[in-house]
Amino acid sequence: MRTHHAWRLCLHTRRPRFQVPASAVASWQQEFPSGCDRPPAVERLPGTAYLLGMSETYDSLERQPLHHRIHYHYDVTRCDVIGDVHGCYDELAELFVRLGHEDLLAPDVPSAPPGRMPRVVFVGDIVDRGNRIVEALSLVHRLCVRGHALTVLGNHDDRFVRWLRGRPVEIQHGLGETVEQFEAIEPALRERWRDELLEFMGLLPWSVHLDGGRLIVAHAAWHAELHNERSGDRLRAYTMYGPTTGQQTPEGYPERIDWAPHFLGPELVVFGHQVYDAPYWHDYAIGIDTGCVFGGALTALRYPSMEIVSVPSRGARWLRRGGRADYRG
Ligand code: MN
Repeated sequence: MRTHHAWRLCLHTRRPRFQVPASAVASWQQEFPSGCDRPPAVERLPGTAYLLGMSETYDSLERQPLHHRIHYHYDVTRCDVIGDVHGCYDELAELFVRLGHEDLLAPDVPSAPPGRMPRVVFVGDIVDRGNRIVEALSLVHRLCVRGHALTVLGNHDDRFVRWLRGRPVEIQHGLGETVEQFEAIEPALRERWRDELLEFMGLLPWSVHLDGGRLIVAHAAWHAELHNERSGDRLRAYTMYGPTTGQQTPEGYPERIDWAPHFLGPELVVFGHQVYDAPYWHDYAIGIDTGCVFGGALTALRYPSMEIVSVPSRGARWLRRGGRADYRG
């Protein structure tokens, strides 16, 4: 049976004077993935441009040009950016209370009223390794869909999406925890949620650009030249995994380049992915993954006040050298 999924890709801002350049829209249409039944329609409104179309599978979304994975939310001027959650729902809930977002924890939280901006931005890696992955992902999903939060796609989230699609994925680096907890959901509910998650996660951006472009949130890294990067593969690799030397560490991981001290802006980039003992603070780049799932802390950066709010981990669920930790939370 051929199934078709409607997709909508957008470049948008709620700033009424911002017009998406017609040339950008035209290049989207030209570059658009083969496998589409017909060229996507364009809806170009003040402040927003949408490409509307149908594709046979989600696969074609992976070959989409870069602009579809950069999301612009220029009018978000105030938000709390939260580091890698990795299924640490308890600390996330505590952090929300500390930040004054306890209202967002209600399962029946209403959608944000028109014009209200998202308050919370996640750096991605919601899943894997932790003990309450389903609750964490469910919260993030609900808040994003209802307009209270934004998230970029982390490398762990990306692998989970591949697993959801039935692609071959090695069950390692804590994906086993996600799969186990996902499969424990009551089947009818699980299958419904799987479809919703594919719809939601299949279109998550690799970077979001906020506050008139002054703030960029990406999972692992950003680079000035990415604004003009034409290759979706390169954009995806850089934002999701960060720069590497091409060499391997003795443990067999790609050797990472410490890009943050050398990034010269002008935007502020807030990222996760690389675990630090404390926020990794530079002039134009701040790493906020303080390793909650490894026994560190879950950290938020309040923007624009630049205040750090951290909740200590309730215990390591995962060992830094790999493997499940003996957690009794
Ligand atoms: Mn991570």
